[in-house]
Amino acid sequence: MTFFIKTFGCQMNVNDSEKIRHLLESAGLAAAVDENAADVIIVNGCAVRAKAQEKIFSYIGQFPRAKRIIVAGCVAQAEKRDIFRKKVKVDYVVGTHQFYRIAEIVAELGHGAAPGAAVAFTRQWQELVPAAHSRSSAVTGYISIMEGCDNFCSYCIVPFTRGREKHRPLAAILREAEYLAGRGFQEIVLLGQNVNHWHEARSGSSFPDLLRRLAESVPVRWIRFITSYPGYHDAELVQVMAEHRAIARHIHFPAQSGSTRILKRMCRTYSRSQYLEIIRAFRRVMPGMKFSSDFIVGFPGEGDRDFRLTLSLLERVEYESVFSFVYSPRPHTRAASLAQGLPAAAVLERLYALQELQAGIQLKNNRRLIGSTVEVLVTERHPKKAGEVIGRSESYRVVNFASATPVGQFAQVRISAAGPHSLRGEEMPRPHD
Ligand code: SAM
Ligand code: SF4
Repeated sequence: MTFFIKTFGCQMNVNDSEKIRHLLESAGLAAAVDENAADVIIVNGCAVRAKAQEKIFSYIGQFPRAKRIIVAGCVAQAEKRDIFRKKVKVDYVVGTHQFYRIAEIVAELGHGAAPGAAVAFTRQWQELVPAAHSRSSAVTGYISIMEGCDNFCSYCIVPFTRGREKHRPLAAILREAEYLAGRGFQEIVLLGQNVNHWHEARSGSSFPDLLRRLAESVPVRWIRFITSYPGYHDAELVQVMAEHRAIARHIHFPAQSGSTRILKRMCRTYSRSQYLEIIRAFRRVMPGMKFSSDFIVGFPGEGDRDFRLTLSLLERVEYESVFSFVYSPRPHTRAASLAQGLPAAAVLERLYALQELQAGIQLKNNRRLIGSTVEVLVTERHPKKAGEVIGRSESYRVVNFASATPVGQFAQVRISAAGPHSLRGEEMPRPHD
């Protein structure tokens, strides 16, 4: 049997697909070059917004009914057996805690098994380390350090699709990081819904302790982590980051709104001023510290003043990048029962205003870099321009330049031009060139 995995969503979904691929390859199955060549297609995706879920179903809808399709991950967990009542044909549903059964399920389907669902939650951490060759990148290695979420933000379906928080043992995290470093990965990204809430009771270790251990013992150039929840901020993190240059000075730190009144309605546990105080605390110690964020616009009850507070937060923090979303009511969540006071067109207008403001901020930030030299990790060769490569800076800026530096290596690049979404530059000769 051959398989093809289609992933929709964030880094966590990508890492889940890596785990699925690893399990199938370990069972002797081969990855197909594309959907048409595959005996079974595994669609693994996100359920955070209704639109994300619709995209997944329209993808499945394009295949003939004879094609075997497994829906896995968050969308599988959100839909469970209801998926079999939809117009699209699905053969099996595999939830977020049931990946370890994937090879057995694929084999059963190969023998003509009836449609079914594996969607139970488990309380234990399931140790699953994708082999280097099953991963989506040979440069950036994802490491799950926790699963699930206990926060129940009033708009969010994640606690219902990923279950309660589970933290991975410290020793297992260190082992995976060393495994990746040993195979030449240049950066590791620690993954979880609230990574800064990770802790291990047995050793008394906190998230800053984990970062310190990684920075001191694992030889990779950049250690990143995503996502940090502002309500779990620990001042020790600032100190650890200041002491270790291997920890990238860029944090994805979703605010969701700049208005304390809306944050309360969202059941976020911090205020605007607490959020800004954390940003200041980082920048007092590391003036060049960079942040990115997520924002939801049009949350029920968001007035003009609340929205203006969101815009002013963007201006105060000067984020490197921002993901902005129109609020989408989701099943099981508390906010789903709240009335949406604004017409859809007014919400979209707010979304565009936020995006325009942020594009201006990024352009200004990027122009400041012209003339300076930045360290860039080459992530790919340009698909269309011969001799050109694309890379990323420490703060995740896209940098384009002409270079022969191979993918997975670093270059020093002098920035010569800047747009809102990327930079251009010239590679500086290395000292020994
Ligand atoms: N755990 C992370 C946090 O607390 O920031 C984020 C997890 S969520 C998968 C990613 C982003 O999706 C959130 O930061 C939020 O901006 C957005 N999101 C979640 N639920 C949403 C909803 N119902 N409507 C619109 N955006 C939503
Ligand atoms: Fe969702 Fe809030 Fe948990 Fe993030 S912290 S996953 S937004 S419930």
